Amino acid sequence: MAQKQTIGDNKKPTLVSINRTAIDPNGCIGSLYNGYRDVLCEKLPWSNEDKLTKVLKKPQCIMKKGKKDQNESLLQIINVPEGLRLSVLLRPTGNNGIAAIINYPYPINEYTRFLLYSCVYEEEQVSEKLSKKQKMVKSVISLASATHIITCISYGIDVVVVLQLPFDKALATAIDDALQRICIHLNDEQNVLILKSDDEHILEQITNTMVYSNIPSLMELSTVYDVYLYIDENKNENIHRPIMYTLQPIKWLFPDYNEPNAYFNLIPPEFDREVEQYLIYLSNVLKNIKYSLDFSDNGLMYKYLEDQIYKKQCQWLILSKMHDHIIARLRRLIIDLRKNRTTVSKRDQLFYHVDHVNFEKSAQILQENLNDFKNKEKLIVGLRDQHFEYCNAAQLNLTKYNYEKTLKCKLKMKDRNNKILCTTDTLNKKNGSKLNLLRNQLAKECEINQNLYITYADFSYSTVELEDIEILTTSQTNNNKKSHLQKSSSTVTKNKTSTSQQSLPSSPIINDNINILLLGETGVGKSTFINAFVNYLKFKTFEQAQSNTPIVLIPVSFLMTVGDDFQERLIKFGDFDSSNNEDFDHPGESVTQHCRMYEFHLSDNDEKKLCIIDTPGFGDTRGLDQDDLNMQDILEYINELTHLNAICFLLKPNASKLHTFFRMCFIQLLDLLGPNAYQNIIFCFTNARSTFYGPGDTAPLIKTMLKSFSINNIPFKKDNTFCFDNESFRYLVALQNGIEFNNDEKHDYKESWSISVKESYRLIDYIHGNLITYRSNNECKSNKHAQVEISHMIRPMLTTMQNILQNLILSKTNIKNKSITMFPKAIHRPASICLSCKPYPLQFGNFWIARNIPHEFLKTCLVCSCTIEQHIAIHYVLNSEYSNKSVSNHPEEMINMVNQLCTIGAEFDYFLVHITRSSKNDLFLPGLLRMIDEENKLCQSQKPDHLNSQLIKELTRLKCQYENRIEEFKSNQQLIDLLIINEHITTIRKYPLIQMQLDIMKQTQKMMTEPYEVSQD
Ligand SMILES: [Zn+2]
Ligand SMILES: [Zn+2]
Repeated sequence: MAQKQTIGDNKKPTLVSINRTAIDPNGCIGSLYNGYRDVLCEKLPWSNEDKLTKVLKKPQCIMKKGKKDQNESLLQIINVPEGLRLSVLLRPTGNNGIAAIINYPYPINEYTRFLLYSCVYEEEQVSEKLSKKQKMVKSVISLASATHIITCISYGIDVVVVLQLPFDKALATAIDDALQRICIHLNDEQNVLILKSDDEHILEQITNTMVYSNIPSLMELSTVYDVYLYIDENKNENIHRPIMYTLQPIKWLFPDYNEPNAYFNLIPPEFDREVEQYLIYLSNVLKNIKYSLDFSDNGLMYKYLEDQIYKKQCQWLILSKMHDHIIARLRRLIIDLRKNRTTVSKRDQLFYHVDHVNFEKSAQILQENLNDFKNKEKLIVGLRDQHFEYCNAAQLNLTKYNYEKTLKCKLKMKDRNNKILCTTDTLNKKNGSKLNLLRNQLAKECEINQNLYITYADFSYSTVELEDIEILTTSQTNNNKKSHLQKSSSTVTKNKTSTSQQSLPSSPIINDNINILLLGETGVGKSTFINAFVNYLKFKTFEQAQSNTPIVLIPVSFLMTVGDDFQERLIKFGDFDSSNNEDFDHPGESVTQHCRMYEFHLSDNDEKKLCIIDTPGFGDTRGLDQDDLNMQDILEYINELTHLNAICFLLKPNASKLHTFFRMCFIQLLDLLGPNAYQNIIFCFTNARSTFYGPGDTAPLIKTMLKSFSINNIPFKKDNTFCFDNESFRYLVALQNGIEFNNDEKHDYKESWSISVKESYRLIDYIHGNLITYRSNNECKSNKHAQVEISHMIRPMLTTMQNILQNLILSKTNIKNKSITMFPKAIHRPASICLSCKPYPLQFGNFWIARNIPHEFLKTCLVCSCTIEQHIAIHYVLNSEYSNKSVSNHPEEMINMVNQLCTIGAEFDYFLVHITRSSKNDLFLPGLLRMIDEENKLCQSQKPDHLNSQLIKELTRLKCQYENRIEEFKSNQQLIDLLIINEHITTIRKYPLIQMQLDIMKQTQKMMTEPYEVSQD
């Protein structure tokens, strides 16, 4: 389809007609066309008598072979006319139909084949007598930005099948042979089919097939054989889908029209080609990096280096943004050239602009990183052969100060000896011989000693900097001596013989433990209290405490006024690291984000462990919403506990009023736990020296609050009230920091220490002697219970709906034996997804999947600069895979499942809003809307998009169904009762996909709240 040029009258400006592939199928004879941007404009009124129709039938089928460093662009291969090719490349996201080939995701090589088929069935043209109309329609034009008008359209089939053959010469020849026969048959209808019986089988060996066409149903096919069948079956149909438009300049119709848009400047061919080559180069760089990220065998990488892959995907998104900038600049230039507003000059500036330099630099770094990944993959495989277990240290939350101890602790198992080779890529490069020596030595030892387990701890991605390659040794524990380290769970695989399994304890808490839930306002000093409390239990006298090193459960820092001139000193206690829960730059300002358990062995009762559950403080400086989130976290955490011994509220004794959230917290907790837990509530006061070890002004406030509840059996008396003075503990820490005190001060602190010790033991005795352990009763679930459970289920429900719909759409198309499988994965650090950041697009056949890259939060997002409100916390990440399994469910069954999920979602929302008054963010509907929004954005930026468009249609249908269900409730003034909700919860849990996600969420919770244990020695 070569470019056709008609030269008009010499006196007037030349009228050059141009051909344009019908990328947008909505053009008609008389449609106006913007040649600057190659888009359709409005349509002029045009009656049928002004058209001439010619029926033809000219099939043409050819096969082209790919080349490794292809100079010819994909658009050239499918005969897109020059000029239009540039427009297509300059809007990489705006091309559907056959032009979507520019998004072909695989690299082209000598085993790539292009099967092109086109058949023009009909041609439409403007008739001669239209000149009469000219005046009538002229006014319309002045409004338009049109440069051309469609005067001729060819209709029919236009399709290209891009095939990747296996890298096997003999097989490729056999496939080529079969493809040739298909070509011959499609070219000449008279011929009978000469396909051999095993051709179909041979064609099945093709590795990848992508179909691009002006016919939507052809684009849904996934094999060349299906395409062949479609064409063969439809050869007698009159297919009325535009293939090519012929355009005449506006002046051809209106010779005296002289607006600027009447002039269209064709870009000189050499320059056109130069820009085209450059654009192809850029897009290939981007594509090749994406290909190695998405399609090379990343199984091992995903297992061990998932976070690092996410980082690379983020970097790719940045690179793709740079690409967009370059393209936008060139697009403006090309449009200006076509408008004759500028001339081509300063070529260097065009192609070696600073944007280009940055793009090249980033691309190169990313490519090098990916090469490092390849090397890492090889390393891991090699280590496996030597029976090493690979462990990515970055996933273990180690700190500079404790990595040795923690690593040993996390890898240590009963009855086994460990040798851990700690190193980094940089150290390996610097000292390769040492690495090899140690590796071989350990491998040999392991061969001889069946009881030795060897681990390769890779610190390359950890914040901990190693000084040299080193080996850590842990030895078998003696069974007679109880070790406090034994039960600590680990995130690395421990068994080298059995298949890798993440060993996590089945329940985070062992029944014998004393579980104390500690609640309190931000700034009340929970961390100090926990530290002080265990030290009171450990050191009965002040002298003992002074002559020993205090126990550090939580690193804390505080300001202390010392000396006669009231100097302020910052006192630090424990290891400090950015990965910790607390905000150390701002002492006292707690940013504890999750519940965390601290364990301590009671010295006179070795069987029992004291477990203090630290919670995020309420009255959070980040506002009430954050308080809500924190409360949710607390409720979720205790919902998973087997039992609670005490619920301890920590207060200051001389408060002038109680924080509003204190009341809310109280009510919500009681709601969740029910009346059985009332007796287990205790009150602890800190800084009680000033009130002579009594609850002070706070006492009447609590009494008033308790009275205001309709329930009146919550005790608040001397028995369940405990007063401490943690100043004495601060004093102890200050001593460690080298601060001196006078004798009076010493005396005071000594006294308050002994009182605090007494109170500590009274507290333990009270729990032992007076309290019945509270156990959650699964049979009588409260509203709060249901709320917590539902809030866990919303995301799994939505993602399951999406997945079922995707597979339903796949099964409806002709794509056989393909399905999308979800893989939820636990996370080891808190993460959220950003609603403003662009997700990473993954292409599965013609389906686009948005992968949300997890963002980590400290005080701000570590990945993007969007605000905290734009982020939603997640409890697991979701990966997907395009597998060769066909969907096992019947389509009708799948529709029923989706409908059920949506209806239950509506009922959950109704329950949450009207019964438990949950905050909006936790509901089903906002999640559904976000999903629709995400799909819409995918459709705007990724082509071809017909499968995602279908998904949007389905999701929108569900949204209507949801709204109808809510309306039903409202109009009947119906109340939904807990019984129905609990039935729904049971129903939802039966979906395997949902159950799987719920299980993974539990794993995450266990990993994040992994107990901090404390040594006694
Ligand atoms: Zn963001
Ligand atoms: Zn972010």
